[in-house]
Amino acid sequence: MTDTETSRVTTDIDYGKNGKQHAYLRVPNSRDNSGWGTLLMPITVIRNGEGPTLLFSGGNHGDEYEGPVALMKLIRELDAAEIQGRIIVIPGLNYPAFLAGKRLSPIDGKNMNRIFPGKFDGTITEVIAHYVYHQILPLIDAAFDLHSGGYSMFMVPSVMIHYLEDEKQMADTVAAMRAFRAPVGIIGEELDTAGMIDTAVEEMGKVFIGTELGGGAILTPDSIRVAETGIRNILKHYDMMEGELVTPEWRGKAEARIMEVPDTGCFVMAMADGLYEPFFEVGDEVPAGQPVGQIHFPETPSHKPMVMTPGSHGMLWSRRGPGMVEKGDTVAVLAQESKDW
Ligand SMILES: [Zn+2]
Repeated sequence: MTDTETSRVTTDIDYGKNGKQHAYLRVPNSRDNSGWGTLLMPITVIRNGEGPTLLFSGGNHGDEYEGPVALMKLIRELDAAEIQGRIIVIPGLNYPAFLAGKRLSPIDGKNMNRIFPGKFDGTITEVIAHYVYHQILPLIDAAFDLHSGGYSMFMVPSVMIHYLEDEKQMADTVAAMRAFRAPVGIIGEELDTAGMIDTAVEEMGKVFIGTELGGGAILTPDSIRVAETGIRNILKHYDMMEGELVTPEWRGKAEARIMEVPDTGCFVMAMADGLYEPFFEVGDEVPAGQPVGQIHFPETPSHKPMVMTPGSHGMLWSRRGPGMVEKGDTVAVLAQESKDW
């Protein structure tokens, strides 16, 4: 069965071939100024014989840049002879969003991480997801989807997994999370899991690892370094590459910590529209009963600000970036030291 029989996306990539292939996924993109237009999404496959197959993706949200930068560097630098097995690399998964520097696709307004498994006859984001779900995910042993906080959030550079029922799948996932050696490993619940590539990979019984490497739609030397060392650590963890794991300690940083976001009570929402003043920086400990910030009211400056106090305590893993908030925006997420992992 060829790609064209099962997907509207075509490619010159031969997933079975040894060596390094840089090519495109050709996604139909008919529009006013280009009737037979095509979106040409870069993809690279590097294979050297038998071994695990790993998917590395960035740009699932287009305003998160550590993943794309680390992956573009990886595909230029890595020779097939340096690995055993196969990696499939997509630096910009929601490619139109990535080019636009936006979280959502400027073509159909969709969030790539809420529409899996996609649709054969859907909009452009759904068609990309449908190809990835049906043509790429069946080939892989594990997926690494490199996110950051994007425009709206700042995060402690982290690697993230979810609670899984299957014990072996959970153990394999925790081992890969530890091997990445990000400053913090988070085991957590999501606010909304429907349509995530995470969930799609997990439901196939495979290892899924996400990251949250920084935020504010900016890059820092340190957050890129976490991404780059993490990717190579993963190749070493799967015995696809030789060498020792590079740890945060070797970078002159604190030892990697495993933490948990055990329930959605760790998320603090803005309860009013206004201007948010954070009281803590990410990585700070927030003691029990302490507010994480307050919301000022620009149209009624004499009104007392609304204080936002979490229901729990812990490390401030993530905080709101832009000052102006709407009621319902997440302004803080707390993580707690893990006792069980
Ligand atoms: Zn993201």
